[in-house]
Amino acid sequence: PADVETLGRNSWTLLHSIAATYPTSPTPAQQDDVVGFIKLFSKLYPCWVCAEDFKTYIRKDPVKAGSRGEFGKWLCDAHNHVNKKLGKPVFDCSRWEERWRTGWKD
Ligand code: FAD
Repeated sequence: PADVETLGRNSWTLLHSIAATYPTSPTPAQQDDVVGFIKLFSKLYPCWVCAEDFKTYIRKDPVKAGSRGEFGKWLCDAHNHVNKKLGKPVFDCSRWEERWRTGWKD
């Protein structure tokens, strides 16, 4: 299997890209899909210690999927939880769309 770092970097790219293309006004079915996807992702993520921690995080702070902004912020907070655990810099969540959707201005 891919190493934990490569797997992680590529997985965050997938997850934040899903948030970036998530509707601003999702239907109930679209909300169910993204909530279900994250739950299954947390079960199947092939770094088992990571998956255990992510499942615990989701139980404490359930996925918010009422809009692109809400889901993007939830995911950014979840990623920051892992950043803190690993001693990595905390990302400014007011800028997640710049990083993952619209592109940096500079
Ligand atoms: P990454 O953390 O992979 O980030 C990639 C890019 O995303 C960054 O360069 C930055 O531009 C951007 N970014 C950073 N923070 C945010 C944010 N909050 N919101 C939006 N964008 C951001 N590794 C472990 O060793 N132990 C674990 O328990 C663990 N759990 C994980 C759980 C999940 C669900 C995932 C997806 C990954 C997990 N990882 C874990 C992997 C870890 O999070 C990193 O992906 C890995 O260490 C590589 O880090 P990186 O420095 O390349 O940047």
